[in-house]
Amino acid sequence: MKRLILILLLSPALLGSRTFETIDLILDLARSREAVRELARAVDLGSVPSIAPAPGRISSRFGSRVHPVWRCRSFHSGLDIANAEGTPVCAVGGGVVVFAGGGRRYSGYGNVVVIEHSPRVRTMVAHLGAVFVAEGDRVRRGDVVGTMGSTGISTGPHVHYEIIVEGIHVDPEAWIL
Ligand SMILES: [Zn+2]
Repeated sequence: MKRLILILLLSPALLGSRTFETIDLILDLARSREAVRELARAVDLGSVPSIAPAPGRISSRFGSRVHPVWRCRSFHSGLDIANAEGTPVCAVGGGVVVFAGGGRRYSGYGNVVVIEHSPRVRTMVAHLGAVFVAEGDRVRRGDVVGTMGSTGISTGPHVHYEIIVEGIHVDPEAWIL
């Protein structure tokens, strides 16, 4: 019960009350007691994504857009932040690295780091230059996991940042507090 109250108190701060979608999402999650417990655990451990992965200029937002390379309208599943090549890219919340590196699995995204923050919440940073972590590493919010680059299909140095909640991409901007 204490935890449920904690969550209810923390939710507005956590979400920044920026999008109705995100609030709906949390309400959906909160409907199951297990989900609330999990969320509470995440809050306790500081693993909820809550910062930008890197400083810089937002070069593309989440949602429908004209693809910069393919020139056709498509869904952009993340937030792009542009800055100089080599700018440190960090973990947006604590968790475990479940994928680090390049290869076919995330083809087009170049070098990526995927962090599991809870069994339901994952984040991904993509187009990295260097990668400083490996699968299985535990990271805390703010730990540098790599550097900004332009690997994969990219028009210049930037980080593509995604949040995936229960397999669904959500707008990362609502999770930058
Ligand atoms: Zn992107």
